[in-house]
Order: sequence, then C-alpha cells, then structure tokens
Amino acid sequence: GLLVIGEVVTDIVARHTGPLAPDTDTPARIAVRPGGAGANAAAWAAHCGADVALLARVGADDAAWHRTALLADGVRPRLRTDHRLPTAVVIALVDTAAERTLVTDSGAAVHLGPDDWDDQLLDGVGHLHLSGYLLFTATGRRLAALAMSRARERGATVSVDPASTGFMTRTGVTVLRDATRGADLLLPNAAEAQLLTGNPEPADAARKLSEDHRTVVVTLGAQGALVARRGAPAVRIPAVPSDAVDTTGAGDAFTGGFLAALLRGAEPAEAAAAGCRTGAQAVATVGARPPGRLPGEQSDALGH
Ligand code: ADP
Repeated sequence: GLLVIGEVVTDIVARHTGPLAPDTDTPARIAVRPGGAGANAAAWAAHCGADVALLARVGADDAAWHRTALLADGVRPRLRTDHRLPTAVVIALVDTAAERTLVTDSGAAVHLGPDDWDDQLLDGVGHLHLSGYLLFTATGRRLAALAMSRARERGATVSVDPASTGFMTRTGVTVLRDATRGADLLLPNAAEAQLLTGNPEPADAARKLSEDHRTVVVTLGAQGALVARRGAPAVRIPAVPSDAVDTTGAGDAFTGGFLAALLRGAEPAEAAAAGCRTGAQAVATVGARPPGRLPGEQSDALGH
C-alpha cells in the first residue's frame, strides 16, 4: 500500500461576477470543498485502485467533515486533531476570465511533525509519498526525515512532490534540496524543476535532478510529462487531450494516478501515461478531488 504525508485543506472557491472593491458587495457563487495537495493526491490514488492512508493535521472544527470526505474517496484517514489552530484554508477568488487570486492560511498543517509519527503507519506500506508543503517548516522537515529513514529501513520506496514555487522561494532551494535528497522519485512541475536547478529547459532540469534521484518526472501541463531516469535521456509522455474547465489539482491528480500505477508494478513511463490520464480527468472537471463522491456534490454552486 501507499502512505501519503501531506495536508488537508478546506478550499473556499468564490467565482465572483464583478470587480472586487472596498465597501462593495460583489455577488459570487461560493463552494466549500475538501482539498489539500496531499489529500488530493491520496484521493486520486485511491480512485485508481491503490490502498492509501493519509497522515495529516486538521483543526477540531471540521475534522469530522474531512474524515468523511476522505473515506468517501476510499482513503484511510490518519488525521491528527490540532486543538489550537483550524484546518488550513485556501480562499480562491476566481474572476469571469478564470484568473485566480489565492489567499492562504496554513493553520494546523504547520504543526505536523515527529510527534504525529508512529512506526505502525508503515505496516503494509511499500511506498511513502511526501507532499512538498511538509518541507516548508522545520517541524515538517524533521517528520519527513524520520518517515523517510523508517521507510527505507523497511525497504519501502519514497517520492516527493516539491510543490509550489512561492513556498519554495520562501524556504530556500538549498534547504529543499537537502530535505528531498533521500527520495527515489521526484515529481516537480516545470516551474518547480526550473527553480530547483536554475535550468529553464525542462529536459535539462530533469536530467540534472536525476543525478540525485532514481526517477524524476516533470509535469508540463497540456504538454504532458517528462520521465528522466538516472543516466538515460528524458522521455516525453504526451498529455491526454482534454477540454480544460478547471486546472486546479492537475498535478495532484497526476501524482495519484502515477503512484497507483507504480504500486501495480508499472514502469515509470507507463505510470506517467496513467498520470496523464488522471491529470486530464482532473482538468475536465471542477474541483481538485476525483468525481462522484459525496451525495449532491456534483450539482452544487460550482457544478454549473
Ligand atoms: P501542476 O498542477 O502541478 O502545475 P501540471 O499543470 O503540469 O501540474 O499538470 C499535471 C498533469 O496534468 C500534466 O502532466 C498533464 O498530464 C495533465 N494536464 C494539465 N493540464 C492539462 C491540459 N490542459 N490538458 C490535458 N492534460 C493536462
């Protein structure tokens, strides 16, 4: 099975129909959805048939709602409840041109650390996936190092999605490279690969990163993905054509589909093709989690 360590986020998506300005009341269609890169990737992996557990920290207020949503997606939640801080929240303000402005509160997610660890989390686990947001706090990096070494002791493989150039810039590339060095597999998007290597050419960045990781997969949006294996030229896997409706969570869906295929024994290139299929599915639907979960969810404010 698969263990994901990452974050659960409450996504508030407000599609507003007029300009935002002080002292005005702008009408919007607002939807509240379960999200978070780690949780979304776990949900997509489960959607693709993998046996998945998720370790994350949530606030006491909406812990039950998040647990229910994860169970509905087929993920075994291993949620730690924080009694000081709320669950992380991301408010996405989306205008009529589909431009997004994100406002984020990391909340309880910043306290996920070694105290939340338990070696039993690895029982029956063949692969550990770390969501990059874990690496943006010193506590998270301590947990990442602990989990990685325990996973290796047990012969499990490890992947990291370095996620979010904004957070990466604030944390510092050197710190992140040190924190990810032990991973067998690195899953950056093109912007993250560039930031990690200083190389704007994805194939060159992938090759450079593959000096430190057995396999590197760089996602390229509508261009698909690149798979680089140590000592071999990068191979491009084409995207699956899709009418993009909402690209939120495309990378997480790719990760989920990719890891589920890998756990079934697929080669990296074959797993990347599976990732492109789930990525395409995610961009064709609104929201970041797989379709068809909670009753009524398909027809709410964002579902047209
Ligand atoms: P992130 O969301 O992390 O920035 P990408 O934008 O690279 O990641 O998207 C991840 C994957 O999702 C891509 O490798 C591709 O397979 C799929 N994808 C993304 N955008 C599209 C699109 N417009 N059409 C088809 N597939 C897409």
